[in-house]
Amino acid sequence: MPNSAKASVRVFLTEFADGLFGYDVQVLDENATVGAYLAALEDFQAQTLADCRGCDGCCHERAPLTLADFYYSAYYQRGGQKLAEWLAETADLQFFGPAADLTIARTPDGDCKFLDTAAKCCADHAHRTFTCRSHCCLPKSERAEALRAAIINAGEDELLRRLLAELAAAGQEDFLPGQARLARVKAADYAPNAFSALPGERWAEAKLAALVDAALWRELLAA
Ligand code: SF4
Ligand code: SF4
Repeated sequence: MPNSAKASVRVFLTEFADGLFGYDVQVLDENATVGAYLAALEDFQAQTLADCRGCDGCCHERAPLTLADFYYSAYYQRGGQKLAEWLAETADLQFFGPAADLTIARTPDGDCKFLDTAAKCCADHAHRTFTCRSHCCLPKSERAEALRAAIINAGEDELLRRLLAELAAAGQEDFLPGQARLARVKAADYAPNAFSALPGERWAEAKLAALVDAALWRELLAA
């Protein structure tokens, strides 16, 4: 990621009204992208926080999967091309009403399937998800929280949109062979978003401005 792209998003330590310290995010350029956001957040973490080795505090929580995670995955990096095949080895599927939710698969004990429980560290750190990469072990401002949620929600929606298209083209109803859990999900419920017009591997070029509403965008641009 070029430095000029990193400079379009600022991540910084701040003190909140209740006296707690945490981090905040400011967008410095109207063309800032998801890739620039993640690069700024990762730089901030590298410069400000100790690494997570020996702590697995957030590796038991729901971790939504997004389109980006397919391209981060070991499956894709060894030449895999099918979302359904990758999800079959990676994902849990739940439903909230009609909405499908794809998350990192859990063990029967509720641990992330990539967690090394003995060492309490990620056994697949190089391939960890966008949700994991963008989680910062600090309180965050409301605008930082809202921006991260908007990116993850749009990334999960786009993953589902592309999965449903892939399954429909293959005449399948699920990413697990012999099941039909996704038959009741309507593709029309997953409208295209800022990730949709891009080739999947260029997800990082999605514009932040197109992923948030006007009120949040104004807040993100404010000093
Ligand atoms: S982000 Fe914080 S809670 Fe999560 S594993 Fe790292 S140090 Fe532990
Ligand atoms: S992928 Fe790694 S960092 Fe992310 S929840 Fe699982 S074990 Fe933790």
